[in-house]
Amino acid sequence: IVKYENVHKSFGETKVLKGINLDIKPAEKVALIGPSGSGKTTIIRMLMTLEEPTEGEIIVDCQNLWHMKKDGKFVRASEKHLRNVRGEIGMVFQHFNLFPHMTILENCMTAPIHVKKTKRAQAEQDAVEMLEKVGLGDKLDNFPSQLSGGQKQRVAMARALVMKPKIMLFDEVTSALDPELVGEVLAVIRDIARDGEMAMVLVTHEMEFAREIADRIVFLDKGVIAEEGTPCEVLEHSKNERLASFFKQVP
Ligand code: ATP
Repeated sequence: IVKYENVHKSFGETKVLKGINLDIKPAEKVALIGPSGSGKTTIIRMLMTLEEPTEGEIIVDCQNLWHMKKDGKFVRASEKHLRNVRGEIGMVFQHFNLFPHMTILENCMTAPIHVKKTKRAQAEQDAVEMLEKVGLGDKLDNFPSQLSGGQKQRVAMARALVMKPKIMLFDEVTSALDPELVGEVLAVIRDIARDGEMAMVLVTHEMEFAREIADRIVFLDKGVIAEEGTPCEVLEHSKNERLASFFKQVP
């Protein structure tokens, strides 16, 4: 459902990604791991069309995000085309990015109403169901500032899920949380993964969680995929030295 072909990305002189090839199948769960600065966030921001590659192609659900001209320059796909692609992808960030002036119910209704043109009553029903699913059915009229970090992150997930994306991206969603709140957020992701239908890409430092959830672990180092395979292959049987030194650094 997602394909990166020889994707390069530079910011000025800095080469951040140096030839990424990655194929993600429908419903596949992929954990992206690697040292700070290795390019993990850049990979998923490109999928959300928040960054464009310097070279290479990214295809989402058979739609190419960028069209190459003969002189090698990239031209953005049309806004309509990008809107379609974005509509298939849900993203949850490290910092929850909720709308502070809206209740959590409104936070989860606004995209379906304004982007998908869902009728208000239907959007409300879907939002209530999703907020119940993430354990926040009793907080519908609260504002984000009245919630804990873990609760805010669960709202962010419900808000992405009401759009029924084919692909969910999670960018270090637990790293801004107090340790005691991590578990409740991981439990929701585990539930979503168990539902099975969506492809998921998780940038995470939680190795045990990656082992439990992921079909495949991709280890990124200095802008290249240095190792990939099943959790067992990558976490237990890899002979890759860069991976071994990375594991020494993570707790
Ligand atoms: P972390 O685990 O710390 O979040 P990461 O693997 O997600 O790291 P990225 O955030 O993708 O890494 O960043 C990769 C590199 O690209 C970093 O060196 C970063 O400074 C650089 N970078 C990212 N975005 C920009 C930008 N908009 N302009 C310039 N440099 C950038």
